[in-house]
Amino acid sequence: MGTIQDMLRKVKNFQSDIQDLGMKTIPIIPDAKGMLDRECPKNECKCCFKVNAEDWRNITKAEGAFCPICRNNSPAIEYMPKSQRKEIISSVRSLIMDNWHHGTPMSQNISPIQSVEEFELDITCESCKTRFSVIGAAFFCPSCGYNSIERTAKEAIEKLILKAEKIFEIQKALEQTLTKDEVAIIIRSIIENSLSDCIGVLQTFNEVKYNSLSATNAPFNAFQNVEKSNKLWIDLKGEGYETWLTKEELNSLLLFTQRRHLLEHKGGLVDLKYLQVTNDKSYSEGERIIVTPAAISTLGKIILKTIESINKL
Ligand SMILES: [Zn+2]
Ligand SMILES: [Zn+2]
Repeated sequence: MGTIQDMLRKVKNFQSDIQDLGMKTIPIIPDAKGMLDRECPKNECKCCFKVNAEDWRNITKAEGAFCPICRNNSPAIEYMPKSQRKEIISSVRSLIMDNWHHGTPMSQNISPIQSVEEFELDITCESCKTRFSVIGAAFFCPSCGYNSIERTAKEAIEKLILKAEKIFEIQKALEQTLTKDEVAIIIRSIIENSLSDCIGVLQTFNEVKYNSLSATNAPFNAFQNVEKSNKLWIDLKGEGYETWLTKEELNSLLLFTQRRHLLEHKGGLVDLKYLQVTNDKSYSEGERIIVTPAAISTLGKIILKTIESINKL
C-alpha cells in the first residue's frame, strides 16, 4: 500500500502514458501483393475486399470510400475490418492493464496487424487507377465508385463456366478428405449456387447498363425475368433477347431463370406455375429441379452472348 501521494503520482503518470498512447500509430502490414484488408461497413453487405496500401493513402478520399460490391459510400476510416478493430482494442487494453498493474511502460510498440492472405482477382480502376482485389467479382472502384461491370460481369461468368467444367476435379479433390455424402452435398450446392450466381450477374449487368442508357431507372430486379427484361430493352433500344439470341438459346434462358426462381423461393420444388410458364416436359409437379454442370456451361455461354450484344448498344 502506498501513500496518497504515491497514488496521485501513479494516476498522473498513467494519464500522461495514456496521452502518449493516443498519439501512437498502429502499423498494419499489407499482404504479399501490397494490399490492405477492407470491409464494407454497411450491415447488409459486410463484404471483404483489399485495396493497394499506397492507393488507399494517395487516391482514396478520407471523406468517402466505396464498397466494390454494393457501392456504399462512407468515410474511409469506417472500412477497417471488424476483426482488425477488435485486435487493436485488445492490444491497447492489455497495454493499459499491464501499465496499471505492473508498471510496464506504454511506450513499447503495439504489435503490428497482419493482413489476411492475398485474393486472386486483381483489378485496376480504368478511371482513377486504384488497384484493388476481391473474391469473385466486383463492380465498383473503392476510390471513385466507377462501375467496371462491363469487364467484371464477363469475368464472373467465365469463372462460373470454368467451375462447372472442372466440377469433377473439384469432386475428386474433396473426396480425399471428406465422405462421399459430404462431397455430394457440397458439389450439388456449388452447382445450384452457380445457377443463382449466373442470373445474379445477368441481373446486375443488365440493370447497370440499362440505367446508364435510360433516362429512368429500371424497376427493382426486373432483369431476373426474361420477359420483363426483353420488354425494357425493346422499348429503350428497339432490340432485345430475340435479336441477340437464337430461339433455342432464348428458351433455355427462360427455363434457367425459372429454375433459379424455384431454387431460390420454392426449395427447388416444381410447381404448376413453373410448368405453365416454361412448358417444361422433363418435370412433374412436386419434383425437385436438378442442375447439371453442363446446364451452367450452356447458361454461362448464353449470358456471355447477351453481355456482348448489350455492350454494343
Ligand atoms: Zn458493401
Ligand atoms: Zn476508380
